[in-house]
Order: sequence, then structure tokens, then C-alpha cells
Amino acid sequence: MSAPDDSFTLYDLRVEVVATDRPMVCNHRAGDWFELVGENLRFPPGQSFPLYPLAAILPLLPAKQRVTHPNDWMTTDAEIACPDPYCGGRFRITRTGTSTWRHGEVTRVPLPPTP
Ligand SMILES: [Zn+2]
Repeated sequence: MSAPDDSFTLYDLRVEVVATDRPMVCNHRAGDWFELVGENLRFPPGQSFPLYPLAAILPLLPAKQRVTHPNDWMTTDAEIACPDPYCGGRFRITRTGTSTWRHGEVTRVPLPPTP
């Protein structure tokens, strides 16, 4: 008897700073980026990222990691404006690939029994 397959897939994400016709106020520059794989954020060595834009971006990332309906705005919309109303920065979220995870390795909550 083999163990039940408890795997699931999430999108890997890249968030990149995009310039607009308005100047940026915060300490982010066009081309700055970070990635999200599973629960881990990765920043390139030596690059910082300001707190307030990060706080605005974070709530959207778990939804972007998951498969969404083709008609859902979460599927089609990929740019977030900086929360500073005087800042022209935008942040583009791109699904760059997928990673597969196992339920039993990411939570202690058991799966319900299969009928
Ligand atoms: Zn900004």
C-alpha cells in the first residue's frame, strides 16, 4: 500500500519595480525585484526594499501563488501601485514557474480521510 499523494503546486512569483511617467519617492528603483517561492521571500544580494510598498504587496501574493479562474481579476491584473500617493512606482507580479509541495511537510493539520 502506497502513501496517498499529498502534493500540491504553487506558482513561483517575481515582483519587479516598474517605472511610470511620475518620479519615484520611495527607496525603490526600476528593476528592483524580489521573488516568492513557497513561503520564502528572496531578495538579490545588497538590494533593500522599502517597508510600506512591501506591506501593500504582501496580501496579494498568496492569491497570485494559486490557480485562479481565467475571468478573475486576480488572474489578469498584475500591477500594484505604490501606496505612497506621491510616488510613481508600480510593482509587477509575474508567475515565473511552479513548485510542488507536500501537505505533510508544510503543516501539522492532517488531511481529511479519503472515502
Ligand atoms: Zn513608492
